[in-house]
Amino acid sequence: MAAMSRLDPLLGEALADLSARRTRRTLHPGQPGPGIVLRDGRVLINASANDYLGLSHHPLLAERAADWAARYGTGAGASRLVTGTLDLHRRVEARLAAFKHTEAALLFASGWQANAAVLPALLKAAATQGAPPLLFADRLIHASLQHGIQASGLRQHRFRHNDLDHLETLLSASADVPGRRFIVTESVFSMDGDRADLARLRRIADAHDAFLYVDEAHATGVLGPGGAGLSVAAGGVDLVMGTLSKAFGGFGAYVAGSAVLCDWLANACSGFIHTTALPPPVLGAIDAALDLLPGMEAERARLAAAAAALRATLRQEGIDTAGSTTQIVPVLVGDVQATLALADAVAGRGVLAIAIRPPTVPPNSSRLRLALSTAHDAHALSRIADSVALSWRAAR
Ligand SMILES: *Cc1c(COP(=O)(O)O)cnc(C)c1O
Repeated sequence: MAAMSRLDPLLGEALADLSARRTRRTLHPGQPGPGIVLRDGRVLINASANDYLGLSHHPLLAERAADWAARYGTGAGASRLVTGTLDLHRRVEARLAAFKHTEAALLFASGWQANAAVLPALLKAAATQGAPPLLFADRLIHASLQHGIQASGLRQHRFRHNDLDHLETLLSASADVPGRRFIVTESVFSMDGDRADLARLRRIADAHDAFLYVDEAHATGVLGPGGAGLSVAAGGVDLVMGTLSKAFGGFGAYVAGSAVLCDWLANACSGFIHTTALPPPVLGAIDAALDLLPGMEAERARLAAAAAALRATLRQEGIDTAGSTTQIVPVLVGDVQATLALADAVAGRGVLAIAIRPPTVPPNSSRLRLALSTAHDAHALSRIADSVALSWRAAR
């Protein structure tokens, strides 16, 4: 007999409250194929996944994952500092460092875990130097970065989204306050699909001797030379992290930077130390993606062109696509109910475009988040554009 938890009455009420406000989330099972998804018994075009280059179903990744599982086992068996480190980890980390043009790289269990664990470790280390560090963060940074900052217990200075004049004003305003400066941002923002000006951020960081921490979750594999992301062209940053779960088509995450930084994190970051090492099949998929990604210029160009065409179609309909310049194209609606209704209408036309609502985005900025992939062929791309345009028109 399934036992009730003691908190069930409280939690049940909280869920009922979410339902009443139409903000309750549900988990939908659905076997995703490349660019498609099964939803309530129907196959829909998937315009909501982050599998930007379709690598999650690439045979080379599947083959190497299976091969490494068969040869090295399905689990690493221990944390990295105990007996979990295999030659495979060192090999993949060396390849990731080369890919990101950094001295070193360190694998993490996930992007969420990397951000949630690395930021408090660094901030606490900086605090031991004397005055507490001063942290400046873009207002729209990902929940995992927010979590890491909150875990540090530091008060943060939030600058308006991508407004580097505002950042400079905040830095100048606290010029007399002691303590090391940190700047935290993303190179491509997950819900707006716009880019940070990393070259200018780098100059600002240099001028204020600030540690620059950049999350490249949505740029890794997709933008920059060989898909290395945007930090390379900016001349490097202090720390760059990214996930291996999006364009990489696999799972896990990396932090890349100096050898000393990575060595120190392996010694001091709880979210690296006290968790089991990534398993061989996951490493196999990452290794195979590293074979493929640098040579995928044609796919990257095709993805960029598809996104530009989608934005042009949507803007003709009067749709606000925010600052998108990437494969992530938001359809800004504002109101939660109207956004849910639009998502339903688009699904009715065969395309899954998930409604993104607060608290994931700021109040009154609910939207559909369209994410394109090279797994979408010309037919799928025109159905994505048409389904949104027609549903938008019908709702006017
Ligand atoms: C997805 C995402 C993460 C988390 O990465 P996971 O590997 O999925 O845990 C972190 N930062 C940003 C900006 C993301 O979009």
